[in-house]
Amino acid sequence: MFKKVHIRLTLLCAGITAVIMIVMSLCYLYVSENGLYRNQFQSFQNDINTITTNLEQQSVISMEWLSKMEAQGNYLFYVLDSGVPFLYNQLNNADEKSTRNLLLEECKNAYLNTDNVSSFEKTSSDSSYISYHSEFEFVSASTDAKYFGSVINLGKYASSLEIIILSSLQSLEEQILEQRFRFILIDLAAAFLLTVFSWIFTGLLLRPIIENQQKQTQFVASASHELRTPLAVILSAAECCKTAPLEKQEGFLKTISQEGLRMSALVNDMLTLSGSDNQRFSVQPKAIELDTLLMNSYEAFDPLARDKSISLSISLPEKALPTCSADPERISQVVSILLHNAISYTPEHGKIELSIAYKKEHFYLSIKDNGIGISDEDKKKIFDRFYRVEKSRSTKDHFGLGLSIAHEIIKAHNGSIQVTDAEGGGSIFTVVL
Ligand code: ADP
Repeated sequence: MFKKVHIRLTLLCAGITAVIMIVMSLCYLYVSENGLYRNQFQSFQNDINTITTNLEQQSVISMEWLSKMEAQGNYLFYVLDSGVPFLYNQLNNADEKSTRNLLLEECKNAYLNTDNVSSFEKTSSDSSYISYHSEFEFVSASTDAKYFGSVINLGKYASSLEIIILSSLQSLEEQILEQRFRFILIDLAAAFLLTVFSWIFTGLLLRPIIENQQKQTQFVASASHELRTPLAVILSAAECCKTAPLEKQEGFLKTISQEGLRMSALVNDMLTLSGSDNQRFSVQPKAIELDTLLMNSYEAFDPLARDKSISLSISLPEKALPTCSADPERISQVVSILLHNAISYTPEHGKIELSIAYKKEHFYLSIKDNGIGISDEDKKKIFDRFYRVEKSRSTKDHFGLGLSIAHEIIKAHNGSIQVTDAEGGGSIFTVVL
């Protein structure tokens, strides 16, 4: 399921970014191509101005000058003297001549049909010359190529010269095509990189969700497993109760009640943990005296310890401790969990010590036992839900949730809980608040 979500998220992220990038590229290309066209047209107009001035100043238009101008600007010149084509234009071979003539016709038509030509008239300082010219863009129907065209009319004495100049836009179009191709390559490479990065980033985003989902599944599986045992006992006891003689029924009812209590304790633990997962874990801190709280816990657990012949002792500092801002109910719950564990995992005639210290504005609450101890490997896992060390699995009233609840409570108080080995065997659980 998450694989599909991962792929979809990647495509969505990469797709949106790629679309934005393509739109931006298109905008850039549009502006840049327009600029290139404008610049080219402007430089064509400037060249035409220069050519017109040159023409006005020359008494004779030589063929050398014409071919030089053609080569310089990559232009095509066509000169008509009072309507008669110049010899320059008649020198070309037949094929070239017909192509030129066709182009010329098309240019002239475009000149006549274009009403939006950029044109201006120019009167030379020398009153014997009157010239005007106009520039325009046109597409040749025969070659399907784009040209800038200009028609210069030059009045000189009695004769009139008409010069048609064509400039092919082929190189500009090649430049534009090259630019477009470069952009396509860049966009493709960027889209590929975006997809790779999106895959990595969405993977990182999804990781905690996947882990959470795995934890939830594990939690439900473990909870069902834990509930199944007491439920099976209750069902079979109830079944036996139906047919058992009256004197045996009480025993079955006792079993049902005991298992019911176990189930109820387990359900309560699970509700506490699910509340902490949904941020509904309420902690109501107030100023409390931790030494008094510890004393109360000691008194409550002393009979239980005595039953197991365990010596439970408490050591409090001589000086009165400052008050601590914490939820008394929750902290009592943590101490109960730790004491209950210590009594459970300490053999008969063992020793448990409760103590509290205050250093650098922190309270250190510790419960030390000389019980079975916890291996380094297990120390990392005992705060996980439903985790129980192999050798303590036989203990019936333990579900492996106590330390996870304690951990959540202390976390909600912004404190920490650690476990270390006690000297000579056993464990020390320390809560820092
Ligand atoms: P449980 O309800 O099974 O005690 P906890 O979450 O409280 O679950 O503890 C997890 C495991 O950590 C226990 O199953 C036990 O193996 C180990 N453990 C906890 N406290 C002690 C202790 N004081 N001494 C040795 N092992 C302990």
